[in-house]
Order: sequence, then C-alpha cells, then structure tokens
Amino acid sequence: TGPNLFGKARRNSKGLDLKSRTELARLDQQRHLETPLTVQSLIDGNVSTDEEIPAVNPANGEIIGKIYTATPADIETALAAAHPWAVPVSERADILLAAADLYEEAAATFFSLLATEAGKTIADCVGELREAVDFLRYYARNAVVTNPIAPMGIFTCISPWNFPLAIFTGQIAAALATGNGVLAKPAEQTPLIAAHAVKLLHRAGVPLNALQLVIGAGPKVGAALTSDPRVAGVSFTGSTATAKRIRKAMAEHMAPDAPLIAETGGINAMIVDSTALPEQAARDVTASAFQSAGQRCSALRCLYVQEDIAPAFLEMLKGVMDEQLLGDPWHLETDIGPVIDAAAKKTIDDHIAKAAAEGRLLKQVNVPSRGTFVGPALIRINGIEDLQQEIFGPVLHVATYKADDLDKVIANINGSGYGLTFGLHTRITSRVETVSAQVDVGNVYVNRNQIGAIVGSQPFGGEGLSGTGPKAGGPHYLSRFHSHPLEASLA
Ligand code: GLU
Repeated sequence: TGPNLFGKARRNSKGLDLKSRTELARLDQQRHLETPLTVQSLIDGNVSTDEEIPAVNPANGEIIGKIYTATPADIETALAAAHPWAVPVSERADILLAAADLYEEAAATFFSLLATEAGKTIADCVGELREAVDFLRYYARNAVVTNPIAPMGIFTCISPWNFPLAIFTGQIAAALATGNGVLAKPAEQTPLIAAHAVKLLHRAGVPLNALQLVIGAGPKVGAALTSDPRVAGVSFTGSTATAKRIRKAMAEHMAPDAPLIAETGGINAMIVDSTALPEQAARDVTASAFQSAGQRCSALRCLYVQEDIAPAFLEMLKGVMDEQLLGDPWHLETDIGPVIDAAAKKTIDDHIAKAAAEGRLLKQVNVPSRGTFVGPALIRINGIEDLQQEIFGPVLHVATYKADDLDKVIANINGSGYGLTFGLHTRITSRVETVSAQVDVGNVYVNRNQIGAIVGSQPFGGEGLSGTGPKAGGPHYLSRFHSHPLEASLA
C-alpha cells in the first residue's frame, strides 16, 4: 500500500476557512484567469478541433472563451487509442493520491473556473473541490483495500454541469482506481473545468491513453461513446430520460453484462410536522431548495407542512427567502448564483409563469438584471402527484397535510417513482424511525438540510427512477467497475 493511504487519505479534505481574511485575500490574488479560455478534447495525447462554440459566464452573459468539440474522426481515434491502466493497484492509488494533492494546490484556479464557467458561489466552490479531492482519496484507498483484479476495460464517464468537478472526478477516479481506461465526456456547458482536472490527473501520472477527454454534446459525442462494443461500461450522471437512452444503446451495441452506473433525477420531498423547530426547519428548507440555485439532484422540490403550523411556518419561510442575496458568485455575501444557461432559465421561468397564471405562486424573490438568474420561487400544490417532472432550479413546491394523513403523504411520495433524497423535521423520535423505514429513497436526512452528502460518511445515490446504485462515495461503489472472476467461476 502507498505511504499516504492510511494517513491523509483517511480523512475528508479540509477545504478553506471562509472566515479567514488572509485565506480570502490569497484566493483573490490568485484568481486571475487569462481570458479568452480555450478548450479542446485531449485524444491519444493530442488536442483536436472541430466545431467552435462559445463558453459563457452565466452570471453576466460574457463570452469567456472557446470550446472546440470532437469530430467523429476524433471519437474513433479515442476509442482506438483507449487503454486500461494495467499497473499494480498500489501504483494507481499513489497516482490518484498525488492528483488529490495537485487539486488542492490548484484551489484558486478551480474556484475561478467554477465561479466563471458554472456560476458557483464561493461556498459551493469550496464544497465541490473538497468532494472531488475526497473521491480521489476514497476510491484510491478503497481500491487498495478491495484489490480488484479484473477491470472491465474501457469506461465511458458522462458527467453533469451541476458538479463539473466533483462528479466528473468521482466517476473517473472510480474507473481508474479499478484499472480501467476512461473516455471522459464532460457536460458541454463545463468543459473548461474538466480540462483542468484532466491536466492535473495526467501531471500526477495517469497515462494519456488511460484517460482521454472527449468534448461535445450528448447526441453527438455521448451517443457515440455509449454505443460502441469497445466500451465495457458506462458511468452516467444526468437526467432519467438520458439514462434510459443510454441503457437502450448499450443493450444494442455492448456486451450483455456491460454495467451502467446511473445517478439520475429526483422529485425530493421533505415533511415538516407540527413539533419541528420552525427556525431550524425554515433555514434547512431554504438551503435544501435554493442553495446552488436548486441545481442539485438532491434538492428539495416538494415540501409538506403540517396544516396546524403552515400559516406561521410559511410566513417565516418567505422571510428567510427575502434574505437570500442573488448576485456575483464571487462575492462572499452572495447566497445564490445564476442557473447554468439561458435554456435552463427559460424552462424554469416558464414553469413559474404557469403557476403564477394559475394563482399558485406564493412568492418570488427579485433577480439581478444581467445573467441567467432565477429568483427563488414558492409555489402552492396539492401534493407531489401534481409534479410531473423535476424542475432543476430554485423552485420550491409546498403542500399542507393533516396529521392523520401522514401515511397517505408517504405513499404519494413513494408513488412518484423517484427515490433520491428525503427530509424530515420532527421532534418525535418514534416518527423518525417509522417514517425513515417507510420512504423508498437512497438518502434520508433528519432535522437538517437534505443536500451535500459527504464522501465516505454519507454514500449518495437513489433507487427507482433516481438511479442504479451503488452509491457514490460508499464502500460498494467500485464493485461495478470490475468483474468478479471468483464469483463467476463458483457460479
Ligand atoms: N451529491 C450531491 C448532494 O448530496 C448531489 C449530486 C447531484 O446533484 O448530482 O447534494
């Protein structure tokens, strides 16, 4: 085992003290990014250029750089050059640990990129880098502990723009730690962050052909990389609809046992009963629904408040919403940044406008005039069954329920078919136990917010329409990235 494995790799990354003036001043000094930024795929060690699309800062609409997407010929070159990482597991682990250290040293660059390309607030930037570093260390360590002897081969890793560093890195780290080669396709909205991560992984010692970056849109690049027999497995985080398309393509073109590890959407609920501490619940509801501009698959979408306390509680919640500051993600006092792009803003705005026209919009916070901001909104509904799809933004739907109807509420939550996160605010201990046992979700949070799972201590992932498992950041995650020859021979 590597020297680091049972020291630093055991603990979660410590991040940054946002209260420290010297830390912040240092960060500000280092944050300068040379624009325009350009990014290309990195295939077989070479960069490639095809169609050029602009990189846009969602906080102000400014064009910050150019993105060159991969051609069909580039994709073919990548597939032909892709290679598993066939060195002893301890060597791979040491290199991933070295990459984790390089990530931490590059904090200022990553924060600048996360704020500029993805509109992340500083607090979210810190959380995201910590999670990425944690994934590298956790999977490196887990690989050494479990010693996977038979990697699948080549993995396609398709990651989302909402965690352009953490999830991008987590998928890659898992596939690499177990000895696979990786074709990494970042979301087309956030390739600059991905390219910087890949640069550091290569600098740490990951071979060029074991990790290639293929940039482009889902229908072009993602589709090609999930429908080729040379690919042995796919790790995907994104929408449920896309996961279904990938499953179909894999069934048609890839080996019958090729794994799909999919982490998808959710229509996540929280119940606040009449015994909850209202101040705490209002704060946790706000964080769950509006932090990261609601762009987390774990975010709260449907709040159930017990009828008896609803009028007072909703007044308090509206007050907390009024305190949320929307603006430049790089200002420390900003609570909520922009949504990712104009298309996302339009979908969310349309949803809010429809609710307003129907007289169901209880409150919306004002927004800055530049950039793709959406003011946090509170919308009245009858229950989760009114929500047909996940609205990926700062929109909270609220329903009230009668004390006697709690079982019905839980049945309706389970009836949504999704099962990612669930929150409960109550001071009745027996209720914590019964409700947690009744809800069919991956992650249950009690008397706290329901976002921000921590690698190692809170493995994250859902069931039903929300994903396949195993949970990311948990002890079983790596098991799907390698085959189990011993079990096969026993069967
Ligand atoms: N792991 C994140 C959380 O716990 C959510 C991941 C996602 O949005 O895809 O908030």
